Amino acid sequence: MVSRRILLGALASGFAAPVMAWAEGDAPSILTRKGRRTRRALKTQATDKAALDKALGQVKPLEAPEPVEAAQVVAPQRVSPDEALGRLKQGNTIFSRGGASIALPGAARIAELAAGQQPFAVIVGCSDSRVAPELIFDCNLGELFVVRVAGSTVSQEGLGSIVYAVEHLNAPLVVVLGHSQCGAVGAAVDVATRHAELHGALLNMVLPILPAVMEAQDRHPADLQDAAIHQNVRDVAARLKVADGLLAERIGEGRLKVVSACYNLATAQVEFDA
Ligand SMILES: [Zn+2]
Repeated sequence: MVSRRILLGALASGFAAPVMAWAEGDAPSILTRKGRRTRRALKTQATDKAALDKALGQVKPLEAPEPVEAAQVVAPQRVSPDEALGRLKQGNTIFSRGGASIALPGAARIAELAAGQQPFAVIVGCSDSRVAPELIFDCNLGELFVVRVAGSTVSQEGLGSIVYAVEHLNAPLVVVLGHSQCGAVGAAVDVATRHAELHGALLNMVLPILPAVMEAQDRHPADLQDAAIHQNVRDVAARLKVADGLLAERIGEGRLKVVSACYNLATAQVEFDA
């Protein structure tokens, strides 16, 4: 059982917060809960960066497009961050009105995508079956690069996936997407407020969400779960902006935006924080 008192103590000591922030077990994070970099964290970041660079150099592309030569060409960015955001908003408007402007891709488009991908947005979403990004944004194959974990949190592996999409696929937009009635956030609320007991992997899933629950709790909202859902995606987006040098560089150059948003299960509408 994890009590609120123990968690708050751990957060105050600055020890457990990074672990909860990124759910990476015993490995130290490069971030504190508030996104501040500590001296130890900066040292760790250098180590992590070198390890990540080395690992990325050894890892094969996420997909194996053919011909191989085509995959080695870094395509120029075709849309700006704001244009990408506009496309998502437009797509969600179409979806929420009960329509769909896309058709399943034909053989020609599938063959084209086999030669390479250029998604215009990265969606960091929840695994919930009712929040499928391609559907709710009226998108097709090859348009969205999706990282999904229950609770819309980001592990180190998830961070690597995001950096890959931004650096190698030139994605100009990252959206951290939560949703109403999120069960993972609900479980985090139960742990924080009722001392609910979760076992092993389930507890690991919930731990990164707890700081957002406690932040929301401090405001005494009428609906703690809903407040925590919004706080969680805002926190994840804020941490992403400083989690990796490449992302920070692209943001500084105006080539990347990281925004948070929430999908309403009842209305099918996405509310963006930007
Ligand atoms: Zn969820």
